[in-house]
Amino acid sequence: MILRFLTTYFAVFACLGLFYFTASAQTIYMDATEGCVEPGGIVITEKIRSDFSVSIEDRSFYFIPVPITATSLYDYDICEKEFPVEKINIKRRKRKASKFSDEDLQNKIKRQKEFLKSVYLEEPKPRMWEGNFIIPVKNYKSLKENFGARRIINGVPGAIHRGIDISAHKGEKVYASNSGIVVVARKFILEGNLIVINHGTGIYTIYAHLKDMVVGEGDFVKKGQLIGYVGNTGRSTGPHLHFGAKMGQIDINPFALFEIQDALSVALSSVNSY
Ligand SMILES: [Zn+2]
Repeated sequence: MILRFLTTYFAVFACLGLFYFTASAQTIYMDATEGCVEPGGIVITEKIRSDFSVSIEDRSFYFIPVPITATSLYDYDICEKEFPVEKINIKRRKRKASKFSDEDLQNKIKRQKEFLKSVYLEEPKPRMWEGNFIIPVKNYKSLKENFGARRIINGVPGAIHRGIDISAHKGEKVYASNSGIVVVARKFILEGNLIVINHGTGIYTIYAHLKDMVVGEGDFVKKGQLIGYVGNTGRSTGPHLHFGAKMGQIDINPFALFEIQDALSVALSSVNSY
């Protein structure tokens, strides 16, 4: 039996007027849906295809994160998505005499990258998140859908942008997108003051370039709790919050999390309807 999850899903969002938030409903894709899976999105399936699962009303649903560079994934079709190209020019700051040589700095960046990688290798914790994730800044100026953007920095192709940028005044409040445990709250060379929250079921949210952090590693935070303030620390071109999300080691589009509970509800009602 082919379940038309997607059709229902479109309808639900159109009704709620939430369609505005979604570039495409394929950010979250229900198994057995016709169509394609978006890179950076999440597949929800009843098949045991990942370590990331939730149980609702005695049913288990599994999340499969879709890597941004995925060309194949089980029997799903991957959407051909054209990611935006952003040209950025960064003025080189006049260097003060630094106690670090370039090589030391590069080594330090490498070690910090490895540390961050290790954070996402942990076994998935039980679910701590509830409901849809929220946009972590209320008073923002603009919210760029630049997940997956290919960046050209000073004319040189740079890394793929793996989050979304929320521009806001310096000092604007930043809230936990959902409940979880703070697993990182420290300063990095590139990310500046960085907070990472582990929400369980393999889901992490990432808050970079903060001015100040008001929570510490090991703290449990509730959805909507103040965790810090928007800043311009680390490698950043102006005050904004770089907001990222991961499922295990895989970067996912934060927009998928803004609608994850709705998607689960649709999945549940669809499987209950036959
Ligand atoms: Zn960013």
